[in-house]
Amino acid sequence: MAAATKTRLRNLIGGKAVDPVEGGTEDVVNPATGEPIAAAPLSTKPDVDAAVEAAKEAFDGWAATPPGERARALLRIADLIEERGDEIADLEAADAGKPRAAVAEDEVPAMADNLRFFAGAARCLEGRAAGEYMEAHTSFIRREPIGVVGQITPWNYPLMMAIWKIGPALAAGNTVVLKPAETTPLTTLLFAEWCADILPPGVFNAIGGHGEPTGVELVTHPDVEMVSLTGSPPTGRWIAKAAADSLKRVHLELGGKAPVVVFDDVGMEAALETIAGTGYYNAGQDCTAACRVLASTGVYDDVVDGLASAAKALVLGDTLSADTTLGPLNSQRQRQRVEGFLERKPANAEVVTGGVEPDLPGYFLEPAVVAGLEQGDEMVQNEIFGPVITVQPFSDEEKAIEWANGTRYGLAASVWTRDVGRAMRVANALRFGCVWINDHIPLVSEMPHGGYKESGYGKDLSVYALEDYTQIKHVMINLD
Ligand code: NAD
Repeated sequence: MAAATKTRLRNLIGGKAVDPVEGGTEDVVNPATGEPIAAAPLSTKPDVDAAVEAAKEAFDGWAATPPGERARALLRIADLIEERGDEIADLEAADAGKPRAAVAEDEVPAMADNLRFFAGAARCLEGRAAGEYMEAHTSFIRREPIGVVGQITPWNYPLMMAIWKIGPALAAGNTVVLKPAETTPLTTLLFAEWCADILPPGVFNAIGGHGEPTGVELVTHPDVEMVSLTGSPPTGRWIAKAAADSLKRVHLELGGKAPVVVFDDVGMEAALETIAGTGYYNAGQDCTAACRVLASTGVYDDVVDGLASAAKALVLGDTLSADTTLGPLNSQRQRQRVEGFLERKPANAEVVTGGVEPDLPGYFLEPAVVAGLEQGDEMVQNEIFGPVITVQPFSDEEKAIEWANGTRYGLAASVWTRDVGRAMRVANALRFGCVWINDHIPLVSEMPHGGYKESGYGKDLSVYALEDYTQIKHVMINLD
């Protein structure tokens, strides 16, 4: 397996793999074993400056490259992802502590499809109007790239979040400097090196490092014209404030606390299978995880019991084994954070199952179901980002909507009922960027993904993401 030996990672700047100028490196640890698997660059200001300079130099050429050619490059990268799919699955399993099968079966095809979508969309960008709106004048609209875009990704889907960001940015003709999360730089930095054979130098640069100083230097760099973050609300708030000084554009995909509203008339077996499957997927480290179940009082006990049974049936262990269905938390820090929520649980709450560390190496935590919580409790209000599903009973539709909407987040939600009218009423009333009816979590490249409220603004996926990475110019021609 490629990640078994300690890989020396480098930054990719101007098409070349280079060590950080000041020479700092840090071990990358496999969360399933606690063993170091790579040494990653810790970039500082000179590295950020060099990467931004490379992206700036490449911008005019890439922006002027016909969309069809940009599309061909993205299609080649999509092919590369499929060709190296087995290697990516090995590396990402080690980098992020995921069950290898989930990367191979879910993430690799999704990444390739996503790039193919943006390759096609690059050729269909449109301005909404063109014509004569003043006598003897013709107007038309151009959608133009923004410039050098700084992109910052989280650790839960390291390479997939990078793909979601570079796809629309590069398709639209921008150049990119991307910083992966400090705990998971492995796949992104290697992938950037692979792309150097396909993209012109400087079009896509990737640099390792922490939020401070690397991310901060990138966000505040005067030649970076847009910043895109997938990360936590506090980081998003900091970036929005920092960007205000130079009025940079900001694109924020932040946290979530997805409510799952289950009514009495639901098809219980299928519902529970999906809710448990998507609540514990990626060890619950998913911004859309089905983590906050609101169950009608008539089915509350069945939901609690069914989720507890599903949690107990999950298999923890070797992430390379096809039998493993639940990986570890991404870091010791993240496991402690999740355990902190459980330790602080209020007296009214009951941990029905899980929440303890199994006798395994790495940062595993047994999947938990927590019942008896009240709407104001910390575990209901805040993103736990771990294998913990909370369940609350509700008495009627109005209360379900009030509680579902009653957190600061607004990324995704689901409603479970066979009553079409009720499904539509509730879906319309939920203040979230995505609502599933009788399902949870599926995403497609054609549909937007992004938040309401403190889950951020700007969309990933879909033509809306492509438009977010463009600016609109009106050109007016005097016909005389
Ligand atoms: P985080 O905000 O701590 O870190 C995200 C990234 O931001 C990392 O690369 C980090 O190094 C960088 N960063 C931190 N401080 C920075 C600063 N001051 N300036 C610039 N960069 C900085 O989040 P995390 O813990 O890595 O990721 C988990 C969070 O991401 C969760 O809240 C989760 O919901 C969210 N997330 C959202 C989506 C979505 O699509 N909405 C998808 C995945 C994850």
